[in-house]
Amino acid sequence: MPRALITGITGQDGLYLSELLVAKGYEVYGLIRGQNNPKAEMVARTVPGVTVIAADLTDLSSLLRALQVAQPDEVYNLGAISFVAYSWEQAALTTDVTAKGVLNMLEAVRLYAGDDLTAGGNVRFYQASSSEMFGKVQQVPQNEATLLWPRSPYGVAKVFGHYMTINYRESYGMHASSGILFNHESPRRGPEFVTRKVSQAVAAIKLGRQDTLTMGNLEARRDWGFAGDYVDAMWRMLQQPAADDYVVATGVTHSIRDLLDVAFAVVDIQDWDRYVKQDPRFFRPAEVDLLIGDATKAREVLGWKPSVDFAALVTMMVESDLRAAAQGS
Ligand code: GDP
Repeated sequence: MPRALITGITGQDGLYLSELLVAKGYEVYGLIRGQNNPKAEMVARTVPGVTVIAADLTDLSSLLRALQVAQPDEVYNLGAISFVAYSWEQAALTTDVTAKGVLNMLEAVRLYAGDDLTAGGNVRFYQASSSEMFGKVQQVPQNEATLLWPRSPYGVAKVFGHYMTINYRESYGMHASSGILFNHESPRRGPEFVTRKVSQAVAAIKLGRQDTLTMGNLEARRDWGFAGDYVDAMWRMLQQPAADDYVVATGVTHSIRDLLDVAFAVVDIQDWDRYVKQDPRFFRPAEVDLLIGDATKAREVLGWKPSVDFAALVTMMVESDLRAAAQGS
């Protein structure tokens, strides 16, 4: 039975990835941060069979101990402070967790695996890198060779993690891969992200429980895919004979306006202008304008392709929030 250790198991991707790995017959361990974290119970309820271990990405010895407990064949480093807007407010904390946390995890794997690592790498490592690293895009669409130009403290932290992963691969021969994932969403997305904010609000407006949706920049564009598809790409990367870096994206870009069009159409509202207001509070100090990914390498080498398009994704999220709202949750 293969064994996997996931950091960030309480997040959207951690839950989808653990479901995928459990279905494939893995024994799955996940790191949980903090004392008496209420999310531990949520993980156990959502993905039965997962074992949680208390550890923190900022504490190297806790990571070493977690590796000794889990004895993993594969480590997926998904843990991060991941909300871009928040990263300007807490830049140092974002750096400690989202940047230095990657180094801590890589170093813990290196110390844990010892000589075995260079002898062929019996622990494989996945780093959750991000399209936010492209920031002020230097090329459209973006691929693995595009110059990185991050536009937020979060993006800068992810660049550090990306290059440190490559460095451990090149310095120690570690089977360490970096997945440059474009935005990926689902009904499990946190409500601070724009897709879920919109799907929840549209459901509440439809049910007459809310009459205004306050937004930021409606012209920003993103390449949005379905998180359930993207965790499959992570797993495929670690099954390759050699570690490498891959862009994972749909290759299709949409604006926030398109998002509003599709989401409101699900509940038969066409004139959404009368519900939507804008507030500078939701604008970013620096914006990422045209993110669109070229996932040719992932398609050709990993045999990966997305199965859910933008309209289906937004529809899935609005319908899920309609059901949740109707049940009063
Ligand atoms: P990100 O790509 O990780 O920053 O994902 P988000 O979902 O947080 O933001 C995606 C884009 O939506 C950004 O360009 C935001 O500027 C834009 N946006 C516009 N209005 C809002 C809003 O009200 N909330 C959020 N989170 N983003 C918004």
